[in-house]
Amino acid sequence: MNLFKKKSGQTPGADAGAALTWCPGILEEFRSIAGESSVLTESEDLRTYECDGLTNFRVVPRAVLLPTSVAQVQAIVRVCHRERIPFVARGSGTGLSGGALPLTNGVVISLARMNRILEIDFENGRVAVEPGVINLDVTGRVSTHDFFFAPDPSSQSVCSIGGNVAENSGGAHCLKYGFTTTHVLGLEVVLPDGTLVNLGRKTLDAPGYDLAGVFVGSEGTLGIATKVILRVVKRPECIQTLLAAFGGTNDAGSAVSEIIAAGILPAAIEMMDALAIEASEAAVHANYPRCGALLLVELDGPTPEVEVQAEEVSSICRTNGATEIRIAQSVEERVIVWKGRKAAFAAMGRISPNYIVQDGVIPRTALPKVMEEIQRLASEAALRVANVFHAGDGNLHPLVLYDRRVPGQEQLAEALSLRILELCIENGGSITGEHGVGEEKKLMMGKMFSEPDLQTMQRVRCAFDPLQLSNPTKVFPRPRLCGDKPGEFVLHPLEEAGVAERF
Ligand SMILES: Cc1cc2nc3c(=O)[nH]c(=O)nc-3n(C[C@H](O)[C@H](O)[C@H](O)COP(=O)(O)OP(=O)(O)OC[C@H]3O[C@@H](n4cnc5c(N)ncnc54)[C@H](O)[C@@H]3O)c2cc1C
Repeated sequence: MNLFKKKSGQTPGADAGAALTWCPGILEEFRSIAGESSVLTESEDLRTYECDGLTNFRVVPRAVLLPTSVAQVQAIVRVCHRERIPFVARGSGTGLSGGALPLTNGVVISLARMNRILEIDFENGRVAVEPGVINLDVTGRVSTHDFFFAPDPSSQSVCSIGGNVAENSGGAHCLKYGFTTTHVLGLEVVLPDGTLVNLGRKTLDAPGYDLAGVFVGSEGTLGIATKVILRVVKRPECIQTLLAAFGGTNDAGSAVSEIIAAGILPAAIEMMDALAIEASEAAVHANYPRCGALLLVELDGPTPEVEVQAEEVSSICRTNGATEIRIAQSVEERVIVWKGRKAAFAAMGRISPNYIVQDGVIPRTALPKVMEEIQRLASEAALRVANVFHAGDGNLHPLVLYDRRVPGQEQLAEALSLRILELCIENGGSITGEHGVGEEKKLMMGKMFSEPDLQTMQRVRCAFDPLQLSNPTKVFPRPRLCGDKPGEFVLHPLEEAGVAERF
């Protein structure tokens, strides 16, 4: 296999694997494994898969395969391994970092047809699912027995469990209940050579390395999850949702810090600023108070505890300048309050032709300082930034608004959104809280981690995938080859001269 190709100006990732020529008969072999209708090769079919939720990166794959069983996934991956064909796993394609972006000469393996709930064990609070099961369908199936699946990304009505596992997805209620990783106990995985392994199990704390923990959040780079054992939890006795209106994000941010410092752990604390409220109201009409910043605080647990905590939270909000506090009075009111929050990204289209969703993390205490700096950078760039985020765990989602039709504005928006990530790092935070690194942020990895850190991660990757066939161009800033000598990374003289680059 060629290790280098000539430099081009293509979309990043588009050139990965481009030096590879497929042997004749490979498509026929895929058809014999998965069936005629499960191998897509026509341009109009392939275009559906050319991007994920991050639509400014697009690559048309060579083929899309839609297996329906573990045996089919294994057989497909074995062919890829034998022929050195890179592959990208895909769930629902809602990712926001380009994680499921295809490779020009690779295949997309869509898990969408592997969508069966395999086993429900109410007594132990466990559910085994295929990877294509939609997040919200897990709660749908266990709610009859008062259970729910806690990780609740705003995309939960469409995103898949396989995608949640790969991204270690979060959501509003992860503040109290933990991210996807807390709720994944076991995984069945097809490794990049086609071997089937089980990582973790139904019970907690197996001896040995926590390889299921390593796989969760690995963004499709270590293999394909074909079965996931999930933990589901009992619905709390009482839930109360408070809305607190503030003049601005500084006061709201101080209230968040004080709530946590008081020893209260709400199920969720979300913040929306004035622009986010405007967009969400235009789309959902949740009747939010018009204010500079809104906190949504959800408390759950035994009724007496929730009632006391609701009083405490209201009092902390008032001390920090809340101008209005409301408590949702019915399940319907609670649902509409959350609908407004969860629709906020999509609602941006109501106030701006284009926008970039960013995802960074900062220590909660740095909220006021960082929010001020974001607004300063936005005014400097003459752009608007809306903010809607998981304030309780400091996971920011600045939405940089722009108009692609105005020459230069897209570039300005991209530069601003990357500057915001640098700001997160400078404040002791991270370049992603839940959307992953994918294609979009791989160049930021070098800003966050030192070369030895990156090398260590790369060694883990090579242990699973020595040929680097599984989503090979994502996450790492420079695709290290597994044959590279350990030690300081040294550019090849051709790379140094700028005439060739690695793929
Ligand atoms: C409107 C909107 C709101 C969102 N809100 C949130 C939010 O609140 N929190 C949050 O965390 N995310 C959020 N997201 C991002 C996205 O929905 C999540 O990252 C989700 O987990 C992706 O799932 P998916 O099935 O769409 O995965 P895809 O986009 O198809 O894939 C994502 C990654 O997972 C890998 N992958 C998929 N399936 C497998 C598998 N079976 N085995 C191995 N790797 C696999 C892919 O290769 C890719 O790297 C939002 C997205 C949108 C569009």
